[in-house]
Amino acid sequence: MTNHTIPTQKSQKSYPQTSTARDVVRLYVQKLSSYKAMLLVVFASIIATSTIAVVVPLYYKKFFDIVSGSSLDVTLRATPASQLVHIIIIVLVFHLFNWGAYRFMAFCNSHLQVRVMAQLKQDAFDSLLQHSYNFFTNNFTGSLVQRVARLARGFERLVDRMIFDVLPLGIQIIGTTLILWSTHRSLAMLILGWTFVFLTFNYLFARWKLKYDLEKAESDSRTTGVLADTLTNQSTVQLFHEYASEAKRFKEVSNAQANITLFTWNLNNIFDSLQGLLVVAIEFAVFYIGIHYWQEGSFTIGTFALLQAYIISLGDRLWNFSRVIRDIYESFADAKEMVDILKLPYEVKDLPNAKDLLVTKGEIVFKHVLFYFQPSKCIIDQMDLRLSGGEKVALVGPSGAGKSTFVKVLLRLYDVKGGTIKIDGQDIAEVTQESLRKQISFVPQDPVLFHRSLKENIRYGRPDATDEEVFEAARLAHCKEFIDALPDKYETYVGERGVKLSGGERQRVAIARAILKNAPIIILDEATSSLDSESEALIQDALVKLMTGKTTLVIAHRLSTIKNLDRVLVLEGGKIIEEGTHDELTSQSDSLYRKLWELQSGGYIKDEESDD
Ligand code: ADP
Repeated sequence: MTNHTIPTQKSQKSYPQTSTARDVVRLYVQKLSSYKAMLLVVFASIIATSTIAVVVPLYYKKFFDIVSGSSLDVTLRATPASQLVHIIIIVLVFHLFNWGAYRFMAFCNSHLQVRVMAQLKQDAFDSLLQHSYNFFTNNFTGSLVQRVARLARGFERLVDRMIFDVLPLGIQIIGTTLILWSTHRSLAMLILGWTFVFLTFNYLFARWKLKYDLEKAESDSRTTGVLADTLTNQSTVQLFHEYASEAKRFKEVSNAQANITLFTWNLNNIFDSLQGLLVVAIEFAVFYIGIHYWQEGSFTIGTFALLQAYIISLGDRLWNFSRVIRDIYESFADAKEMVDILKLPYEVKDLPNAKDLLVTKGEIVFKHVLFYFQPSKCIIDQMDLRLSGGEKVALVGPSGAGKSTFVKVLLRLYDVKGGTIKIDGQDIAEVTQESLRKQISFVPQDPVLFHRSLKENIRYGRPDATDEEVFEAARLAHCKEFIDALPDKYETYVGERGVKLSGGERQRVAIARAILKNAPIIILDEATSSLDSESEALIQDALVKLMTGKTTLVIAHRLSTIKNLDRVLVLEGGKIIEEGTHDELTSQSDSLYRKLWELQSGGYIKDEESDD
């Protein structure tokens, strides 16, 4: 039974899985503590209703004894029908009480669960969003989304199992034992012993099976991850016509999930059949001993009815208990995946006494800066660099040279491994991330937009901007041209990740955001790469205005766009290997910059020639 296939795909988790069931319980209890009064009502109702459920069969015992005239209490044998009516009225009152208490409890429970689930989702959301750039490059969005939902679902299941199963079962076991103990001690001990065996068997089985339940949950995450990743890349799949290979990949992970699911379900089936035998055995044993007592004269028809009632309800509850333990374990497994993340310290953190960054000139100084993803390969290698306030600098270099990483380190999306980066004399590792990023406008290579209106997307640059300011920024970034052509203008929704806009349009939205933000330091990462020549010409003047008086770092592959900047830095192998103005560098016969420049101008000339 253990030859189930375990998916071969690499785990998507990039963090240690250190949380325990105690961490999960601690989190849930902490959330529940805000609803103490309601929790008390729920517990009190469950204790009362479960106790009544154990007491009511005693009245039925009396009832049957009177009806059959077999009561051991002779005074009851002659009791008239009024006694029977009296008994069923008491039972009626109990039932009505239970009915009311249960309904009231159900409302409180719903309120409590819904609120806590929302709170858990909000906490998970807040915690996830603050994780580092690195965290998100190493974890699939689809899996993360699922983990948030599972944390809340785990709570719901756990609370349901506790109040609807564990607590009533505990009361039933105690109640049944106490009632039988005074009259038929050996029966009480038999039922207690049997319950103990049943519970131990359940517990050990569920514990042993936990690893497979965890594997099942992981497999589920993996399938969802592949599904989400492939759907995100649907257009790439379409363009490369890789339907068959993608289908094969998905088939592999979903089949692996099916295998582990089938394996765990089969285990459950085997287990269910074994516990079915245990129920049959206790039923037989109790009645067998019952015959003995009956012969002795200490057993009445009512006692048989009482025992049957107890065995049936205890059997029902215990039968479900295997599922209850399974559910509890599964809830822990579900929740654990998110709690691992909640416990995970943020990779990039503010120091406890971090101050706000104050930018006066906008001077940026790199001192012996070291950065790598793997120690064997430095991406930034002991770099020393100074950008004066207001200077406009281009960063160029072959693909993979580390230009984007340079920017991420400056934005503190990654912490440096050595050295310091200072802005106006303040170490960026010692200021708050919020203040650092508020002082830098970054226009990324391929901006991703929210599926919100264009107006909201642009306003992201400065949430308190007025509509007029948003429109002005859009005009300066030449967004107005394409926005005016849309039927809903600024209210147009841009699709998931902004897919309804072209690359150039998304870039112009990102530039509009930067204009609105008006930060003293600007980073343009290939900011004009997606623009056609006309759009580029249109926004060049906007960029010039944006850059005026601000420290600017431009990463561009198209060297023609950076000719007029103050200085060009050529990055290769983690070091600045050349620096100077465009003219200086192109005049050096053996410079890498000149080679790149010639390659590009050659490329353009060739294109023009072939066009003719
Ligand atoms: P550029 O922007 O100059 O093209 P990058 O800064 O994107 O270069 O990448 C520099 C190097 O770092 C590349 O070799 C790239 O493969 C590597 N790299 C980038 N991101 C990661 C990452 N998250 N993990 C490991 N290596 C990375």
